[in-house]
Amino acid sequence: MKIFKAGSRPQRKASSDWFHGNVMQDPIIDAEDPARVRTIKVSFEPKARTAWHTHPLGQTLFVLSGVGLIGLRHEAPKIIKAGDSVWIPPEEEHWHGATKDSSMEHVAIHEALNGKVADWLEQVLDEDYYL
Ligand code: MN
Repeated sequence: MKIFKAGSRPQRKASSDWFHGNVMQDPIIDAEDPARVRTIKVSFEPKARTAWHTHPLGQTLFVLSGVGLIGLRHEAPKIIKAGDSVWIPPEEEHWHGATKDSSMEHVAIHEALNGKVADWLEQVLDEDYYL
């Protein structure tokens, strides 16, 4: 067993290649083989969001605080709030982030396939974000 003490691992700023705005990531667990679960806490400032992306084995989001959005192709983004859980099936193109006026923090749980948890696509256009 390992206990990772609160604050013992550094918070990282999410890459601007795959995120828009101020997004911070805190590690929760990268399980060792043969387990494949990967879990992080992600904090989005208002207007911040991921780029479009997919997950090879899907993803669960659990909203901890704030008000956020989750978007699919050709659909208006949906509001997500603290306590909400979202399941995104494998290969479904989507994005997630904060709203214009509120920050949002979620736990993201996904599994690695051949060492990869996501395939990144283009940034989300303002016209799709504000839809
Ligand atoms: Mn995702």
